[in-house]
Amino acid sequence: MADSIQMPVIGEYFCDVLVVGAGVAGFSAAVCSARRGADVLLVDKNGCIGGTATTGLVGPFMSVMDPTGEYPVVKGFLEEFVGRMAKKNGARLPADCHGGDSWSAYRKPGHIGVVPFDPECFKFTAEEVCKEAGVKILYHLLLVGTEVSSDGTVKKAFFATKKGIVSISAKVFVDTSGDADLSALSGVKILFGDEEGRTQVSSLFFLVDRVNKEELDAYMEKHPQETDRASRFFISIIDKCKKEGTFPCGRHVFSAFESLNDIWRINMTQYDDQIDFNDPEQVTKAEIECRTQIPVLIDWLKKYVPGFENVRLLQSSEMLGVRESRRIEGEYYLTVEDVLKGRDFTDTVAVIGDSIDVHGKNQSVYVTRTAPTQIPYRCLLPKNLSNLIVAGRCLSADQEAHSAARVMPPCFATGQAAGTAAAIAVKKGINLKEVDISELRNALREDGVFLG
Ligand SMILES: Cc1cc2nc3c(=O)[nH]c(=O)nc-3n(C[C@H](O)[C@H](O)[C@H](O)COP(=O)(O)OP(=O)(O)OC[C@H]3O[C@@H](n4cnc5c(N)ncnc54)[C@H](O)[C@@H]3O)c2cc1C
Repeated sequence: MADSIQMPVIGEYFCDVLVVGAGVAGFSAAVCSARRGADVLLVDKNGCIGGTATTGLVGPFMSVMDPTGEYPVVKGFLEEFVGRMAKKNGARLPADCHGGDSWSAYRKPGHIGVVPFDPECFKFTAEEVCKEAGVKILYHLLLVGTEVSSDGTVKKAFFATKKGIVSISAKVFVDTSGDADLSALSGVKILFGDEEGRTQVSSLFFLVDRVNKEELDAYMEKHPQETDRASRFFISIIDKCKKEGTFPCGRHVFSAFESLNDIWRINMTQYDDQIDFNDPEQVTKAEIECRTQIPVLIDWLKKYVPGFENVRLLQSSEMLGVRESRRIEGEYYLTVEDVLKGRDFTDTVAVIGDSIDVHGKNQSVYVTRTAPTQIPYRCLLPKNLSNLIVAGRCLSADQEAHSAARVMPPCFATGQAAGTAAAIAVKKGINLKEVDISELRNALREDGVFLG
């Protein structure tokens, strides 16, 4: 077996801002940067925008509201995008999702103002929005390397394609790969898991239809105890099955969200073992294990959950749903105390309302609170590089703080902040650490972002 192979560099691209990873964070970063004048290239290894939101079948957007569910905190680009999908019947507005209903899987705490959306509508609307903003898109590029100069400037990123290697030079690099791939390859210090190096468990979503909603609603109305605590949802059925030994496998919780067009998203599979998310052998094993659980769970749903007697499997996700993998060590490290106390920062660039939500192997931690969480700009900036910024689920935070910031509305919000900062840096010819915070915050406010 050869130890190394030579591959030709078959293409070279140049841009102001290179966004690596077209999940919700990368999509938001790319559009917000291009709208502020930058020449933006958005790349992904997949063939569509959305990452976990589309290819991963995960939803709804959870939640855009403050922790008490009284007012929206994640606005800006997400609000606009949801409005646009809603006009095509591809999303339901948060004001129409009151919590405790089928859109929120009958949960109330932390689930008021969620946004159910159609992943197909997401894909084509996102491409439309990119086109209008002038974002260039290149799919089927897998990041495999970077070139970094000794002064801490990233010069190029290298991508594998079926034809060979492609190199892309940029003034600013945005890491929205979810797994902090660009940062790790560029020598940024990486954080992983809790004190023992354990990350949250992974799951694989699947979609079903033919749910009898009236029957389920009626059952929920008669059994309010099923929803009294978000972490012990549907507990009487689960407890009964556990006692009988009839609960099959997966997450030990019943979690079904009604989505649009009578489709329900089921989040019940679980892979317990700790894995290296960049090792194809381990990820494949997890995907196959989770997919094996699906027919077993469908049989269980049919037998035990009112309204699910006739459900039909429509689709399983083609990628493992990764709640948490690598995070960067940034200029600031958001902590669980910051989240619980709702701490104010002078460089806040995103405000989020999501709960602390750590899914462990045997039990989960779910903590709602009253004040929203502020995310400082410094959480997006790695310590040792001047022209790289992250957004989405690889930001700098401890595991519990990360668990609140990892959901999609916060990823949209940090994406908007990173893209806007990148455009300012390019326009002024400065590095990301020199960006004037008041200018950045004013630009975000101009674009509809709520900063508290
Ligand atoms: C099981 C599960 C349930 C969840 N439930 C909810 C929920 O109900 N509501 C909610 O709001 N959030 C939920 N989340 C969280 C949320 O979906 C994700 O954290 C969020 O979508 C992450 O967005 P992102 O843009 O940071 O990353 P991702 O969605 O991971 O996107 C990263 C993108 O980068 C690309 N990429 C990665 N590496 C490379 C590379 N080397 N080269 C090129 N491209 C690359 C990927 O293809 C992908 O498109 C859930 C997550 C999971 C896993």
